[in-house]
Amino acid sequence: MTPLNITSYSTALFSTWINIEELGILLDAGDGISSALLQKSRKIKHVFISHADRDHVTGLLQLNQLNGREGFPKIYYPKHCGTFPAFRDFQNKFDPHIKGMEWNELVDQDQIEIRKDIYVQCLRNEHIKAPHDISKSLSFKLFQTKQKLKSEFTHISSKEIKALIDLKGRENIMEKIHTNFLSYSGDTPVDNYEKWDGSEILIHESTFLQDEGDSIIESKGNKHSKINEVLKMASEINIGQLILNHFSSRYKKNEIDNAIKKLCKVYHIKIPVRVIYPGQIHRDILNQPIINEL
Ligand SMILES: [Zn+2]
Repeated sequence: MTPLNITSYSTALFSTWINIEELGILLDAGDGISSALLQKSRKIKHVFISHADRDHVTGLLQLNQLNGREGFPKIYYPKHCGTFPAFRDFQNKFDPHIKGMEWNELVDQDQIEIRKDIYVQCLRNEHIKAPHDISKSLSFKLFQTKQKLKSEFTHISSKEIKALIDLKGRENIMEKIHTNFLSYSGDTPVDNYEKWDGSEILIHESTFLQDEGDSIIESKGNKHSKINEVLKMASEINIGQLILNHFSSRYKKNEIDNAIKKLCKVYHIKIPVRVIYPGQIHRDILNQPIINEL
């Protein structure tokens, strides 16, 4: 995957969105996307929304109003959230001149093709308590596929390979490699570590620095992650780099930095860790300084 230009804003309760410019993908659609991205918001073609909490959806109204056109943006949402059909119907009345947005339902394990070699996989998470066959809160994993010669053919010439493909068929000579180049947790408690194993970039929520709760953020009983749990998990699985988001607005930058630095030492974390601080728009986050010492 070529280096990605990722711009993001994320503060629990207020707004969360993550824009991956090269791919035209927006992960969550909180308030302020259009005003932060200006004309670049036009490049957004695929909007994946993790769940229906208002801090993840309300930016869609203006994004659609400015950019809705035949077939775009394509909006994907968890199937069992009643918010989205209501939102669609409201927008059709509110902005009747805007047409063409596509609204698509998602359930656990769905795979959506973005381009021939890139797809998004949906994964159910435990943010909202719901029976197993009900999709109300999802995480997303982005994959790139590449065709690669099967290992038994790597030593032969390209001319011979071409002949073999003609003879036996491409599928018997080549294999498809799936690379999980980015994963996004959405809002979720830390649960199953393995689902993030092998992510080149993991963007994970980390709402709380300590064990304390928050009566507003947790008012609906929805579950979130604590920094200690996220960094412990990161130390026990194989990921390339970590971006932490969705902090509560109660924390100041230096409190967040100190907590992360301390825990990175405790858990011997040797991968780059970056932070999307509450109240700040982060542009090109992968080129921002890291927090921890490698
Ligand atoms: Zn949220």
